[in-house]
Amino acid sequence: MSKKIDKEIVLKGIPAAPGIAMGQAFLLDQQDFIVTERQILPEEVTIEIARFEEAVSHTKYEIQGVKDKIIAQVGGLDAQIFDAHLLVLEDCMLIDEVKKRIRDNKCGAECAFSFVLHRYVSIFDKIQDEYIKERSSDVTDVGRRVLKHLMGESRLHDFESLQGEIIIVAHDISPSDAVTMYSKKILSFLTDVGGRTAHTAIIAKSLGVPAVLGLKDATLRVSNQDFLIVDGRKGVVIINPSDSTKRLYSKEKEKIAQYEGAILNTRDVPAETVDGHHLGLMANFEIRGEIPGVKKYGAEGIGLYRTEFFYMNRMDLPTEEEQYQDYKKIAEEMNPHMVIIRTLDLGGDKFLSSIQLPKEMAPFLGSRAIRLCLEEPEIFRTQLRAILRASAHGNVGMMYPMIAGPGELRAANGILKGVKQRLREKGVPFNENMPVGVMIEVPAAVMTAELLAKEASFFSIGTNDLIQYSLAVDRTNEKMAQFYEPAHPGVLRLIRRTINAAHDAGIKVSVCGEMASDPTLAMILMGLGVDSLSMSPSSIPQIKRAVRSLKFASIEEFAKQALRLSTGQEVEEYMINEIQKIVPDFYTYEA
Ligand code: PEP
Ligand code: MG
Repeated sequence: MSKKIDKEIVLKGIPAAPGIAMGQAFLLDQQDFIVTERQILPEEVTIEIARFEEAVSHTKYEIQGVKDKIIAQVGGLDAQIFDAHLLVLEDCMLIDEVKKRIRDNKCGAECAFSFVLHRYVSIFDKIQDEYIKERSSDVTDVGRRVLKHLMGESRLHDFESLQGEIIIVAHDISPSDAVTMYSKKILSFLTDVGGRTAHTAIIAKSLGVPAVLGLKDATLRVSNQDFLIVDGRKGVVIINPSDSTKRLYSKEKEKIAQYEGAILNTRDVPAETVDGHHLGLMANFEIRGEIPGVKKYGAEGIGLYRTEFFYMNRMDLPTEEEQYQDYKKIAEEMNPHMVIIRTLDLGGDKFLSSIQLPKEMAPFLGSRAIRLCLEEPEIFRTQLRAILRASAHGNVGMMYPMIAGPGELRAANGILKGVKQRLREKGVPFNENMPVGVMIEVPAAVMTAELLAKEASFFSIGTNDLIQYSLAVDRTNEKMAQFYEPAHPGVLRLIRRTINAAHDAGIKVSVCGEMASDPTLAMILMGLGVDSLSMSPSSIPQIKRAVRSLKFASIEEFAKQALRLSTGQEVEEYMINEIQKIVPDFYTYEA
């Protein structure tokens, strides 16, 4: 029994990357998982059986949830198809056989389950009966779900073999998986999990493909080859759209293309308000090969080069020479504009094959970013040497991620000093005055901003993390999305405090989190006094349009008023209202 439903169904998720895509679904989770043999100790048998039981009950709960939703949306008949899936999970023979195998063979739950699953499927496949054959596909479908719960992040996806123009639907896509889509003709991607500022969402923007994350159960609702419409601006996905819906979205797509063409004309005009105040608009950079995009949208430099993506999808670490060549090339291509290279920000939701990090309960609060670099000084030194050498070839700056206070800044600068000394001794050229900035992403960094400002060349506020750490909201957790509030009065005060501390010390301050690419929020940031913003290159024209439509005096007044309001929602509503009073069609079209 297949779960295919022909009625138009609308799913709502978290808008991660703008644009509209129309095409066929490709369910990544329907590819087989790579399950490797794993032996366990006799005392681990009970744990593995409990893990298996938990995975089965999670899967049941998930399927029941979708069934209830479908009953509410399209009626009971269509929902009956999920009963077959629930029956598989109640099959005592299958369940008992898996437990027996864990006990007898002392193997991990995923190996035992995968073995039993394949045995069942091959028995069904040999029987020439249509009903039994459909049972086989139910078993496979449900089996993948259970394996997903058992294997979590360690699942491997085979992106290399992907072909054609498809919309990928997956439970989760890691940032490194997302990067490998760069050279593929992928129209869009959708995931069950993930938040607006998860690095997978950030990569989707760099790839220029519309994406919706946090759809919760898209992999259960969508079937392979279903026709889908993805509206990345609104976070909407339509399964099996009617002809009239398709026509509507085709027109919408054309309008977006026209609008984009029109605002691209502003590429060479400055980001200056009506009363002549300039705001620096720079690009965030993740994927090598993005430079033409950075130039096309008129970025005044690279405000954040997320170097960790250079380390991903390879089994070894990049050498100093490789990194140097890469940084040098970017510095030369962007010259005279500045390129701010951020030192390695691993951990959190970004991992490498070449550095095995111990599994942590809360990776965003664990060995991440500058902490990891200070724990692994050789990896850090290699990168610092490469950055310093590249500084001789253009306008290069550098900044450290996730600094919590002056202690860490001094530790990092201490290593930098040693690296500089060695380069001097060897006569290797570098810019002695290369600016070294600090990312402000931890509340303690805001509270020590006056102290940090004395020892930093500039600040760059990483609002993606600052919001998650100050509001205690995991940026990758779709279930917490409603609490992730960039305009929260607490967040605005942290930003204001940082800006004031920077300016009091005579240094510049930028914002490079996703908040900078939202026109409404960007205007608050400008009003609070930031000197520049850095964002995905395709967002630049829209922000420039906002800057060029308003007076700086009004923008400052908006920010002042916004700070008097009590909730993020009030702030956003107030700003939208004020901007619309001046530019009535401001929100009519967005890319
Ligand atoms: C941020 O935290 O806002 C930031 C720009 O860094 P990243 O998103 O890479 O953590
Ligand atoms: Mg960050």
